[in-house]
Amino acid sequence: MPELPEVETIRRHLAPHVEGRVITALEVRDPRWCRPLAGEEVAAAVQGRRVEALGRRGKYLIWELVDDVHLMLHLRMTGTLLLDPPAPPTHARVRFALDDGRELIFDDPRRFGTGELALGGEARDAFFASRLGVEPFGPEFTSAHLYALTRVSRAPIKAFLLDQRKVAGVGNIYADEALFRAGIHPLRPASRLTRKQVAGLRDAVVASLGEGLAAKGASIDDFRHPDGVQGSFQDRFLIHLRAGEPCLVCDRPVRKLRAAGRGTYVCEKCQPRPRRAQAATRNSARRPERSAVASS
Ligand SMILES: [Zn+2]
Repeated sequence: MPELPEVETIRRHLAPHVEGRVITALEVRDPRWCRPLAGEEVAAAVQGRRVEALGRRGKYLIWELVDDVHLMLHLRMTGTLLLDPPAPPTHARVRFALDDGRELIFDDPRRFGTGELALGGEARDAFFASRLGVEPFGPEFTSAHLYALTRVSRAPIKAFLLDQRKVAGVGNIYADEALFRAGIHPLRPASRLTRKQVAGLRDAVVASLGEGLAAKGASIDDFRHPDGVQGSFQDRFLIHLRAGEPCLVCDRPVRKLRAAGRGTYVCEKCQPRPRRAQAATRNSARRPERSAVASS
C-alpha cells in the first residue's frame, strides 16, 4: 500500500498537470468507489470546477476545487492514477477528463480505493479530524507531542505507528525503517518508551519518510507512478524485506516476525526485544518473501 512518500510523489507528479485545469467530466464506473454517495452526485459536485490545488493529508490525495469543494482520494492497496495511459487500463474505476483534453484514470484491481466528497472546509476538517493524527512533516510533529501520545497508548510501538489517528501517513515499510533507525523493538509497548527513545523515534520517522520521498517512494506491491516511473526506495531499505540478510549495523541476520498483523523486520541485537513479547511472536522468516509481502 502506498504510504506518505508514495502518495506525496504522486501528488508532486500530478499537481503541475491538474492545478488550474477544469474537470470537465468525472465518470464513476464503479459505484463502490464513492458509496454511500452515488457516482452522479460526486460527478455533479466536481464537474465544471477548476482545480485550485492538489493537496495531501496522510495517505489521502485531496482535490481542492473552487467553491470550497474537496474530493479526497485514498488509493488503498492497489490504486494508481494514470495520466493519459497509452492503452485503456484493465481495472479503471474512475475517469477524470480535464479541459485540456487530458484524462486521468484511477486504476484499482482490488477495488479498495475510495473517493469521498467534502462540501466546505469545515466538512473537510471534520473528515480528517476523525481519521488522521499529526502530519509527520508538519510543525506539530514534535517529540513532546509524540511522547504525550505514547503515554496514553496500550499498543506495541509498531501498532501505534501504523494507527493513522496517531501519526498520519506511516505504513508498514516506514514503521519498520524508523524503528530500526531508532533501535526500538516493534513489540515494545509505546507507553514504556523513554523520552529519549521517543525523541529518537520522532527523528527516525522523519528521516525514513524523507529518504523515501527523495527516492520517489518504494515500488513494491502494486504501487506505480502515474506515468509508470518506478520509485527506487526499495533498493535502500535498511531492514524492511531483508529477512535472513545481515543487519547493516551488526551483521546479525535480520528476522521476520509479525507485529500488528503485519510482516515485520527487525534486528534483535540492535532493537532489543522486550521480555514480555517473547511468547507473543512467531518467526515466519521461512515464508517466501514475495507472498509474505502480498499477504501482509
Ligand atoms: Zn543489528
